[in-house]
Amino acid sequence: MSDDRWSQRKAVVIGGSMAGLFAALLLRRVGWRVDVYERIGAELAGRGAGIVTHRELFDVLAKAGIDTAAAAVGVSVPGRRVLDSAGRVAGELALPQVLTSWGHLYGLLKDALPASCYHHGANLIEVSEHSDRVVARFSDGTQVSGDLLIGADGIFSTVRAQLASDVRPVYAGYVAWRGLVNEWDLSPQARAELCNWFAFSLPPGEQMLGYPVAGPNEEMGVGQRRFNFVWYRPADAGHRLANLLTDSDGVRHELSIPPTKIRAEVTAEMRCDADRLLAPQFSEVVRLTSQPFIQAILDLESPRMVLGTRTVILGDAAFVARPHVGMGVTKAAADAAALVDALQKNPANLQAALLEFEAARLPFGAAVVRRARHLGSYMQAQIATPEERATAERHRTPEAVMAETAVATGIAA
Ligand SMILES: Cc1cc2nc3c(=O)[nH]c(=O)nc-3n(C[C@H](O)[C@H](O)[C@H](O)COP(=O)(O)OP(=O)(O)OC[C@H]3O[C@@H](n4cnc5c(N)ncnc54)[C@H](O)[C@@H]3O)c2cc1C
Repeated sequence: MSDDRWSQRKAVVIGGSMAGLFAALLLRRVGWRVDVYERIGAELAGRGAGIVTHRELFDVLAKAGIDTAAAAVGVSVPGRRVLDSAGRVAGELALPQVLTSWGHLYGLLKDALPASCYHHGANLIEVSEHSDRVVARFSDGTQVSGDLLIGADGIFSTVRAQLASDVRPVYAGYVAWRGLVNEWDLSPQARAELCNWFAFSLPPGEQMLGYPVAGPNEEMGVGQRRFNFVWYRPADAGHRLANLLTDSDGVRHELSIPPTKIRAEVTAEMRCDADRLLAPQFSEVVRLTSQPFIQAILDLESPRMVLGTRTVILGDAAFVARPHVGMGVTKAAADAAALVDALQKNPANLQAALLEFEAARLPFGAAVVRRARHLGSYMQAQIATPEERATAERHRTPEAVMAETAVATGIAA
């Protein structure tokens, strides 16, 4: 229900991806005026990869007014399996889960927001706070103001860089190769043994996982979907990472590289390694993926989420956990829900609302990052101490990997 005292309040949301869209939809439902400012000029295109869902994500989708029964959110799998290097089933675990894709979820959220509230091509360059409002200035010289500014502008957040410049992402010592292949391009055997599962292959010190997601036009039927893979591989911060992230024009990228610029020899070497190291079903997936891409694995932990009297950060702008917990989108959604709850509970006191939001979400963000760090530690290029190695080893048995990856348990705030 909207509250009259908030009904004239206006929020400026920076970033029109998951956190920004959830915040905008939820705020509008309690009577705020909201505008979303997104740097990218065109419709955001999914990086073409999968997203794991958790129950909390469905709760927030419902609160945001999205009927998840009518709009299929993703593909369901009954459980998990590990394939050994010969392709035999080395373990199975019943664990039903819904897997979706970034593009599908983005479409559901974006369609629920009136187009007039979403502004493409608006690149925030500066935030300034005043006693009665906060002002956002964009690179084209325009500016807007509101009662509250929400920095939902991702891991390299401009809002955070300006107001908490000491908080930066840290490279974890390994990368993920990612990609998607059409189910119908796979052999019948690989399709049968992989495509209905959340599946793993576990070469020493590495981890390959994959699961089905919607097809190129959101098809959910068996045989029409795509299979999404994520292959974690150690890469020391020096030579190895530099080699992966030096593009076909010889330009060295710091932490990410456009997929079309990955050098052909880097992709060819990765495919050879897939044949050598992975279960044959997975090496087929890698071979048939036309445009694999590389993601450096990073940790980001913010000591605060309230960055002024009228400015907050949420989603990836505040915390980025390694993908092993599969929490990025769910965490962004829950951050937005907690912010809106706190605003509702403190209708006359913005500062109290923001601090209540921070108290609720800061420990959770830190706990997710910590948990993901443990799960991924055995893939780091260098593991510093014997204690770290002992901890790391606990998370690499097939049973542990199946039970611990992309589940909400084990995250103690
Ligand atoms: C295009 C895209 C595709 C993705 N695909 C996948 C995927 O396939 N699988 C997966 O696991 N994760 C994916 N992610 C990441 C995942 O969605 C996020 O980790 C998570 O959901 C948290 O979302 P977020 O909104 O906090 O941050 P993000 O999703 O990173 O969104 C931040 C948004 O802020 C915008 N922005 C940044 N700086 C400015 C600025 N100065 N002014 C205005 N806008 C700005 C960015 O363009 C971006 O749209 C993707 C993200 C994006 C943006």
